[in-house]
Amino acid sequence: MQVPFHRPYTTDDEINEVIDSIKSGWLTMGPKTVRFEEEFRDYIGSQYAISVNSCTAALHLALEAVGVQEDDEVIIPTMTFTATGEVVRYLRARPVIVDIDRDTHNIDPCAVEKAVTPGTKVIIPVHFAGQPCDMTAIRQIADGHGLTVVEDAAHSLPAWYRDEKVGTIGDLTCFSFYATKTLSTGEGGMITTGNDEWAERIKILRLHGISNDAWDRYSDKGSWYYEVVEAGYKYNMTDIQSGLGLAQLRKIDWMRERRNAIAEKYTSAFRDSGVIIPPPVRPDRTSSWHLYVIKLNLEALIINRDGFIEKLKQKGISTSVHFIPLHRHPYYRNALSLDAGSFENAEWVYERSISLPIYPGMTDEEVEYVAEKVMDVAEEYKR
Ligand SMILES: *Cc1c(COP(=O)(O)O)cnc(C)c1O
Repeated sequence: MQVPFHRPYTTDDEINEVIDSIKSGWLTMGPKTVRFEEEFRDYIGSQYAISVNSCTAALHLALEAVGVQEDDEVIIPTMTFTATGEVVRYLRARPVIVDIDRDTHNIDPCAVEKAVTPGTKVIIPVHFAGQPCDMTAIRQIADGHGLTVVEDAAHSLPAWYRDEKVGTIGDLTCFSFYATKTLSTGEGGMITTGNDEWAERIKILRLHGISNDAWDRYSDKGSWYYEVVEAGYKYNMTDIQSGLGLAQLRKIDWMRERRNAIAEKYTSAFRDSGVIIPPPVRPDRTSSWHLYVIKLNLEALIINRDGFIEKLKQKGISTSVHFIPLHRHPYYRNALSLDAGSFENAEWVYERSISLPIYPGMTDEEVEYVAEKVMDVAEEYKR
């Protein structure tokens, strides 16, 4: 059996919505994008939802909207994708990279507290694999020092911290609709916020800095006139993407339930093994289960992580590693003079973690096959 690491889940619904967009004559941002934003906003329960062409663009605009400037400090976890750090550099600000929690792989609030200086402006928690960070602690630190919280929610659609849905917790929340994420438009992103001023500014910045009133030129009123009020960006979504988004949003809860069921099957297969450590589930959080990341108990095995991945590959199972911590990449290591010794937990996690396939279109046979083969390799290489 061959089990790919990911397969997007699309049906005739997505195909029909995209055909509908093309037939409508609106290929770029138009009425369907407006509808996708409205439905996304209602689904999250936020005041605003502003679409962009990636989560990277969302993070960039969020930081610009809150006024991050040259040499300001932005605290981010090392266990993330480079997008979280590169956007800080777009504004010539300084990424301050901190360590994570060993269990959840989420940013460690104690490390955040220690990293705060008078130059700190923003904290970007990343909800690793879809399980929300300790938002009470992060909120407390932010409030105590007058910082803004911009959530990197690329993994966490939908997810809940206590009774709050991700997208309604931080000051601004950035979602990804990249090909492998839990809702996909191929490429795409969304920013949610409850702040009028930031929302207004982001809407202007995402499309060339053209003033919002000029948005009317996309409506029936139609007008050739527009005003540029800022040097903006070309970050808008298209109606073709929004067609995909609308169709995907209609099944977003069902898709999460499906991933949740897969996660439960994996966890019950690994829980008592003593060699495979399943991802912990915090009782006050609901994960989107974007990723299912196991950790190997290396002390009980005579095979390392890379070897384990190779054995699974030979059995037809594709896996991945999330993430190579930022401090290990030449750019961040050199630009920020980082030393692995400052990231003990991330190092420990990185050495032993493997992301297993988890997506709504996986068959029960595929799930069972993966669980069984992981246990087979573990048994074969037990110390
Ligand atoms: C995928 C991802 C991003 C970037 O999303 P894009 O939509 O591809 O720009 C940012 N942060 C994290 C944690 C991600 O996994």
